Amino acid sequence: MLKDKVCFVTGSTRGIGWSTAREFARHGAIVILNGRAAGAALDDRCRELADEFSGTVVGLAADVTDMAGVKACYQEIFRRFRRLDVLVNNAGVLQDALLGMISEANMRAVLDTNLTGAIIHLQEAARLMSRNRAGSIVNLSSIIGRFGNDGQTVYAAAKAGVIGMTLAAAKEMAPKNVRVNAVAPGFIDTAMTRQLPPDKRDQRVASIKMGRVGTPEEVANAIVFLASDMASYVTGQVLGVDGGMLV
Ligand code: NAD
Repeated sequence: MLKDKVCFVTGSTRGIGWSTAREFARHGAIVILNGRAAGAALDDRCRELADEFSGTVVGLAADVTDMAGVKACYQEIFRRFRRLDVLVNNAGVLQDALLGMISEANMRAVLDTNLTGAIIHLQEAARLMSRNRAGSIVNLSSIIGRFGNDGQTVYAAAKAGVIGMTLAAAKEMAPKNVRVNAVAPGFIDTAMTRQLPPDKRDQRVASIKMGRVGTPEEVANAIVFLASDMASYVTGQVLGVDGGMLV
């Protein structure tokens, strides 16, 4: 479904980003992995993917909040491939805090990574995609960005911001044949959710109508659909992948 498409996934050394990169590779894409910093984690993942699927894999290190570093990634993508077909704005952090306990550092880290970083990537990708009058951008929002949750005011604000950014960019980019959509996962089994205390985790699972947590692959499959030509007339949408979660 993505044969020879150039696909960039931010924060893709683990979790949903890694599963998405693997599914992209399985579907024949040229995959660009991204980690916050250069090093063994990123190199190992690139090798793993290239060995398993024998397609082209490139690793580009940059913190999503570092505008100059992100710009350099897109320059490198242009130099190598002359185009970008798919961007998945996946990198994110979760730091829960109740009102009254939210530090400035928490606010900045969560908003900068989940929202500002996504806008920085969106803008760079939009430039490259506009040149070719084709492309698909998939942004990771969250069920929390649609319905909120206690202890997650900052995260909810960031993920609601991702929905706003998706809707605005979809309108602006549609005439250029660039589609912009979001996925809103519920409770997915990754390092991000494994950090929750067991009682909180049980409480969240109990709110899922399907009675189980989701897997990163299940989110990746929704992302593959939105990234591919299977969704060629779909833009400005937020696709919930949450097993009927009520939050
Ligand atoms: P994860 O913690 O396993 O992975 C997040 C990835 O983002 C990691 O590889 C991390 O290194 C990277 N990252 C973090 N900050 C970065 C930065 N500044 N620059 C570059 N990379 C950075 O989490 P996950 O569960 O795989 O989450 C992926 C996305 O899905 C996030 O945006 C998250 O908010 C969203 N999401 C997750 C869930 C869930 O239940 N796991 C639910 C809804 C939304």
